Amino acid sequence: MSDFSTEPAGSAADFSTEPAGSAADFEAVIGLEVHAQLATRTKLFCGCSTAYGAAPNTQVCAVCLGLPGALPVVNARALELAALAGFSLGCDVRPRSVFARKSYFYPDLAKGYQISQLDEPLCLGGYVRYVLDGEARSARLTRIHVEEDAAKNLHLGGRTVVDFNRAGTPLIEIVGEPELRSGAEAEAYLRALREVLMFAGVNDGNLEEGSFRCDANVSIRPRGSATLGTRVELKNINSFRFVRLAIESEIRRQEALVLDGGKVTQETRGYDDARDATFAMRSKEEAHDYRYFPDPDLPPVSIAPARLDALRDSRPELAEDVRARWTNELGLTAYDAGVLTAHPEVARYVDRAATGLAAKASLAANVAGKKVANFVMSEVLRDVTTDGLAARFPISADALVGLLVLVEAGTINGKIAKDVLVRMRESGDDAATIVEREGLAQVTDTGALEAAVDAVIAASPSQVAQYRAGKTALLGYFVGQVMKATKGQANPAQVQAILKAKLDG
Ligand SMILES: [Zn+2]
Repeated sequence: MSDFSTEPAGSAADFSTEPAGSAADFEAVIGLEVHAQLATRTKLFCGCSTAYGAAPNTQVCAVCLGLPGALPVVNARALELAALAGFSLGCDVRPRSVFARKSYFYPDLAKGYQISQLDEPLCLGGYVRYVLDGEARSARLTRIHVEEDAAKNLHLGGRTVVDFNRAGTPLIEIVGEPELRSGAEAEAYLRALREVLMFAGVNDGNLEEGSFRCDANVSIRPRGSATLGTRVELKNINSFRFVRLAIESEIRRQEALVLDGGKVTQETRGYDDARDATFAMRSKEEAHDYRYFPDPDLPPVSIAPARLDALRDSRPELAEDVRARWTNELGLTAYDAGVLTAHPEVARYVDRAATGLAAKASLAANVAGKKVANFVMSEVLRDVTTDGLAARFPISADALVGLLVLVEAGTINGKIAKDVLVRMRESGDDAATIVEREGLAQVTDTGALEAAVDAVIAASPSQVAQYRAGKTALLGYFVGQVMKATKGQANPAQVQAILKAKLDG
C-alpha cells in the first residue's frame, strides 16, 4: 500500500480554491447626465432674472410659476448658448428642435410638467475629451437638449417650502454614452466638460450653487459582456470628488450584492459622504412614465443655417487649444499652461498682455509670452478673484504691459517691478507715473554706481582679501551690498561689471 498515495481520490487539493465569482470578474458601466445652467441674464421662457441668491420668490412671474394660461416665449440667447455648447463639444447642432412636456408631480413643479426636449433635441452626438492617468481619451455624447429648471424645495426645521426663483432657469442636459469605467474616469470627464462649457462662455461651472450638476448611471456586468446590467441612478452629488467616491462605493455595493446572490434593482440613490455609502431614495421612473408630448404652446425651434454657421465660427477658443498654442508657440511648460488656463478670463488676460508686450517692447511672441506668464504666475495670480465666468485682476492686462515695458527698457529692474505693482494696485495709477513720482528709476549713472561700489569695497576689507585669494563666489555678496546701498534701484548687470573691473583689476 505504501506504493500508493494516501491522498483520497477527490480532495480539495484537486480544485481551485478560487471562489466562483469575485469582484475582478465585473466591469462597471457608467454614463453621466450633466445639467448645466446656461449663462443668460433671464429665464428660458420669461423675462425674470436668473441671478443667484435673491430673496425667495422675488424673481417670478405667471410663466415661471406655472399659472394656468400663461404663455412661454423662448429666450433666443439661451438657444444660442446651447448651440455654442454643441459646437464646442463636436455635436451635430440641429437647425430644428422641438420642446416637449415631461409630466410629473412634485411640489417644485407647480404646473405639473417640465418643458424639455425628447425626440428632437438641439444637439446630437459629440464627445468629451479628457486625460486619465496621463492618457488622452474621449467619450461620446448621445445628445444635448434644452430644458427649464424646476423650483427648489427648502427644508426648514420640519417643514418644506418652495422657492420659485430657480423655476424656468435655462439648462442644457448633456447626456453621455455609458462608456466610462471608473469613478476616476467620471471625475476626469466632468472636469474636462466643465472646462469646455466655461471657456465657451456657456456655463459658470459653479458646483456649489448648482449651476453644474451631475447624475451618474451606474451598473455592473460580467467582464467581456456586451449587455448592460440594471442601472442605478446616483443623484445630487455636488463635488467632483464626491462623484468619484459615490460611483466607486456604488460599484462596490453592486458587486457585493451580486456575489451574494442578490439582484440590483433599478432605483435612484443618494450618497452619504460621512459613511462613504449610497442609500436608496426612490424607485426609478421609466421614460414612458413621464408621458412626454410636444408642447402645444411652443412652436418647433428653428435656427437659420447662416446663424448656426456664424455661431460656430464665433465660438471662443477652448482651454486645450490655448494650452497647445502656448506650449507650441510660446514655449510654456505644460504645467504653466495648465495653471494659466484654470479660468477662461485668466487665459485671455495672459494672451492680451503677451500680445501687448510683444508689440510695445518689440519682443518675439515667445519671449514676451514667457515673461508675461512668469510674472502673472509669481505676482498676479494670487490676487485674482473669480465670480462665475467673470474675474477681477489686481491691475488690467494693459497696465501690466505698461509695467513690463519699463523692465524691458531697463528703467526699473525686476525687483522694483514687484513694488511698483503693489503701488499700482493701491493707487490705480500706471507704472510710468509711479516710477517717475517716487523716483524709482534704476540708477544707471556710472559715476553714482562707482561711488557705491567703492564704498562697499572700502567697508569689506576681509571679503576683498578672500575674493582676491580666489574665492570668486563672493562676487554675489558684493552685488548684494551695492543693491542694498542703492535701495534695490541699481542695475544689477552694471553693478557686477563695475565690481569685477575694480576687484580683478
Ligand atoms: Zn418668470
